[in-house]
Amino acid sequence: AVRDSSFERQAPEADAEELARRHLVQPWPYAGSIGSEARGLIGSGDGIYVTDGEGRRLIDGPAGMWCVNAGHRREELAGVMYEQAMRLSYNTPWYTMNEPSAVLAERIAAHAPGDLSHVFFTTGGSSAVESALRFMQFYNNVRGWPEKKLLLSRGGAYHGSTYLSASLNGRPRDRDWMDVADGLVVKLSSPDPFRRPEGMTVEAFADQLVDEFAETVARIGADKIGAFVGEPVQASGGVIVPPPGYLPRIREICRDNDILYVSDEVVTGFGRLGEIFASQDVFGIDPDIITFAKGVTSGYFPLGGMLVSERLLADLRRSNHPDAMYAHGLTYTSHPVGCAVALANLDLLEGGILDHARAVAPYFQERLKTLEELPLVGEVRGVGLMACVECVADRESNDPLKLDYEVGKRIDAHCHSLGLLVRPLIHMCVMSPPLIISRSQIDDMVAILREGISRTMDDLATEGVW
Ligand code: PMP
Repeated sequence: AVRDSSFERQAPEADAEELARRHLVQPWPYAGSIGSEARGLIGSGDGIYVTDGEGRRLIDGPAGMWCVNAGHRREELAGVMYEQAMRLSYNTPWYTMNEPSAVLAERIAAHAPGDLSHVFFTTGGSSAVESALRFMQFYNNVRGWPEKKLLLSRGGAYHGSTYLSASLNGRPRDRDWMDVADGLVVKLSSPDPFRRPEGMTVEAFADQLVDEFAETVARIGADKIGAFVGEPVQASGGVIVPPPGYLPRIREICRDNDILYVSDEVVTGFGRLGEIFASQDVFGIDPDIITFAKGVTSGYFPLGGMLVSERLLADLRRSNHPDAMYAHGLTYTSHPVGCAVALANLDLLEGGILDHARAVAPYFQERLKTLEELPLVGEVRGVGLMACVECVADRESNDPLKLDYEVGKRIDAHCHSLGLLVRPLIHMCVMSPPLIISRSQIDDMVAILREGISRTMDDLATEGVW
């Protein structure tokens, strides 16, 4: 049973916005407003909705940050967290273990492709990717290949905010003012069919991407390359769905060259594409490592992890260095409250949410696609319950609108006043609602988005910039 807290919190000194301006550093701030910024307050959530500081109910279009997959205010999830915290709130993973983490590892491995059999739990997506990269380094050191460490990643990628994971990121503005480990990373093209060379078929574009990959491996030498890291669908890059057949062909090149294939399923995992993992079930690949986070707890607790194959672990166990230590672990690795809520979340996903997500996904994509009728919209694309509306300056050339028009933010502002949160991404808007969204709620979402885009077109026309 979930009890009301009898604990009375001390009354705050000022309202939240004022306190934030005085004391909070927000993520991804600009230098000019760092430490002095308030953001739109969200007070509560229920199902697919959240309520803002003014009490306005909004559809949570991005499900937080692609994470509130089971929806807000699930009593099953809150209750399990309460019960687990009352039973055991924490134990050190250094020399003890807890039951929820072992049970969860088995449940997750049961959904995994190939021989991905073991899970290392982290605190979120960045730490999951970081753990995978450091695991590759350790693996190749122990195998006696200390030179085999370079990382392959792609334009448009997003893999995290820790030093190594951020070094993989492909979006230029994520790197402009930040130091990254450039010497460790080799960048390849984004598999973005919308931006393929003019006149080229999607099939020829896939061939070009695969050739680029193979030539890069040949040029640098497989003995220097440790891993390829890729999202099955580039999420923060703008929901880039790769051309058919491309991922399996990259997987084969990795296998042939002993390059670990790390599939970053931080966004695509746990139901976003209707499956627990999309790598095999949607894209037909069996990676060496899968990283996950977000939807694993539907955002109720910060948890992530990497799934690693039995083959890699067996290689380590029978290496010549049984005393070598993978000196890597977090205080909150295998956190009992996080693992308990993830188990309850898996019950919900398996108990109907995955089926629902698969059933409504075609409708979601079809309804959003109708927005291509609007002249500002260059393309609506997506898969499962994730989609992106990309705005263009001109539909002939598909040139993106200039950054300073902040089209995504303008659409978001209009939609907010109409009852919908969207995730603005420069000239794009990303939609990835809670997986429990109904058909009529999809209609509401698309109607608001259509009106928000129309109003933005009017604004741009009035200002004479479009
Ligand atoms: N990988 C991917 C594909 C992501 O989208 C994100 C976050 N948006 C991360 C990793 C990093 O996860 P986190 O923010 O939980 O550290």
